[in-house]
Amino acid sequence: MPTVADIERLAGERTTDGKLPTFTSVGAYPLIYITHCAEVLCADCATDQVDNGNDYNFDPVIAVDVHWEGEDETCCDCGSAIPSAYGPVESEASE
Ligand SMILES: [Zn+2]
Repeated sequence: MPTVADIERLAGERTTDGKLPTFTSVGAYPLIYITHCAEVLCADCATDQVDNGNDYNFDPVIAVDVHWEGEDETCCDCGSAIPSAYGPVESEASE
């Protein structure tokens, strides 16, 4: 199981207010935080979880990923939308 330090290393430098970054430091691509149960968290909720232990033992953040493209992801904690870097992918079925 990754430690908080591992998550910080994956996510990059914290913002000046001590939160895990919302965007990558290079390119400013949106980051999503993924928990053990494959839930998506926004940076704020991920910060809260790793710092305060909220649900951490139950469903810890185990991965950080760039949300490149596709529909918005929704934070499973606060419900905020996390838009992808390149937006929704056009369906191959529609012409
Ligand atoms: Zn959230």
